[in-house]
Amino acid sequence: MSSTLKKKKIVLYVALGLLTIGLGVFILFFTGESHKEKIKEELIFENLSNKKEVGRMSTLEDRNGNIYYKINYPVVGKSKIDDFIKNEVDVLKDNAFVENRCDCDELNTYYFIDYELYMGMNRTLSLVLKEVVETSWLRESVNVYTYIFNIDNGEYLSNEDIFEDGYKEILTKYIFSNDDEKFKVVIKEDKVYLIVNGMMQEVEGINDYLRLDGTIDKDYKVEDLEEEYNLINKEYIVLNDVVLYKEAKLASDVIGSVKKDEIVKVYRQSDKGWSLLLTQDGVAYIESKNIEEKKEEIPEENTNSGDSNEVKLYTVTDLNMRSEASSSSELLDVIKSGEEVIMISKSGGWAQVQYKDKIGYVSASYLTEVKIVKREVKLNVPPQGHIDPSKPMVALTFDDGPNTKATPRILDTLEKYNVRATFFDLGSLMLRYPDIVKREAKLGEVGTHTYSHKNLNLLSAEELAEEIRLSKEASMQVLGYEPKLLRPPYGNANANVRASITDMAIINWNVDSLDWKYRNKDLTLNEIDKFGNLDGKIILMHSIHNETADAIEILVPDLLDRGYQVVSVSELAYYKGYTLETGTIYYGFK
Ligand code: ZN
Repeated sequence: MSSTLKKKKIVLYVALGLLTIGLGVFILFFTGESHKEKIKEELIFENLSNKKEVGRMSTLEDRNGNIYYKINYPVVGKSKIDDFIKNEVDVLKDNAFVENRCDCDELNTYYFIDYELYMGMNRTLSLVLKEVVETSWLRESVNVYTYIFNIDNGEYLSNEDIFEDGYKEILTKYIFSNDDEKFKVVIKEDKVYLIVNGMMQEVEGINDYLRLDGTIDKDYKVEDLEEEYNLINKEYIVLNDVVLYKEAKLASDVIGSVKKDEIVKVYRQSDKGWSLLLTQDGVAYIESKNIEEKKEEIPEENTNSGDSNEVKLYTVTDLNMRSEASSSSELLDVIKSGEEVIMISKSGGWAQVQYKDKIGYVSASYLTEVKIVKREVKLNVPPQGHIDPSKPMVALTFDDGPNTKATPRILDTLEKYNVRATFFDLGSLMLRYPDIVKREAKLGEVGTHTYSHKNLNLLSAEELAEEIRLSKEASMQVLGYEPKLLRPPYGNANANVRASITDMAIINWNVDSLDWKYRNKDLTLNEIDKFGNLDGKIILMHSIHNETADAIEILVPDLLDRGYQVVSVSELAYYKGYTLETGTIYYGFK
């Protein structure tokens, strides 16, 4: 069962290492069990999603030893898809129980799954499962799994079923590896999206590589459907008590009914009098004459915001400006990243904006209230050492420390081989172990991993400012200077966070060693091996595990043998010809 699962799931470990120094979490351990679970649940589910376009939600909830779990998963009404999904969540849950089993009864592990479900073009159904595990040894991980189904026959579609050859070249613009496991594809309405670092991004140009041409079902013809059915995706009011059909013909099976004045969601509509509905039990057809489009209600924000609704916003990426709220409408302009626009109104994910003398529509999710300023970051310690820029180099980075056991061992190894690394320390721990931090700074460089390991995307502006202020204060106190490199917890730094960090470069990674998950030196080394050529790459590890210290004792001499120079992040950027700026997330330096 586990091996079929491996083939089908696409996994990305987005988030790592939660250190529960924060008082909030501390309190949780001293309150009642079920109250504690409730709070955890709220914290976690808040961060998950409520985009559930199809079917109904089913929930599994129980306690198994020290593991408390709650799993939301969809039932779409097609047994083949439903069986597949149920099997997946069962396997995920079982694996989690094996991986997170521990003897520490007094501490809990929390295991949550929530989902998003979208109807996509060419009658596909995209499922995104988000799995959050917070283990009793105080770490949190978020995994994202994506699945695409053919809704007609219920078949699971692999990337090869979905795309023509050549799609990977397009996708490598968005992620850093040509490796199938890294491609997390979602088809939503009439667009293809990728999930990168837990965030869904539209991938321009990828639609040209769509196939979906009957490799699964020989009778399945996309062209016919495309000609006959138009995408609607709106709510309609039912005009009469009528039945729902399995297929778009009166002779087909009746699979349900709707009552007058009920609201239904029409996904597609044909010229020949049929509408495809998304219902609580899946999809069904209704005769179009029995429904009428529901009039848009005036959004509340328009009625109470006074004389003007116009808001000044900034683009966070290059954005296509369209003549209508549809990606197939005329392209009016491409607005460059960081430009100012005036938002006139917002509806269904589209913002009507004024840009220079034009009025048009852009995707609302790429607009932010705070302007992202790109400013050069002045480093504390100028890059030094004897680096040959013509030879390959790789940066080792260590998060979550320092601690008193593993971190000194890692430092011993760096010292022994005379190589450098970057430590992204927690401010709270820097204050506790200042001597170790000073040694880190001497043998490498020290950036910040925030003060108390909060997910920055979830903080208010004030909370974010406070977290950053405390981080800087800790570094100032221990090292005498403020950090210039930030590794955000879980790699999370949305547009608002990027806009608010005005004097540090944000450094993520493009090689995840998964050391925190494996807690085994061989598996960790093997994971790094999977990435092949490491030149210009940033490796993510954690300085708080003895197994990581074990792995480093082998990895460093091995890298040197293979001709790599082992450097700090600042050195890597410098010798690869980059000037570090604010407002950008760096994953590596080619
Ligand atoms: Zn961390």
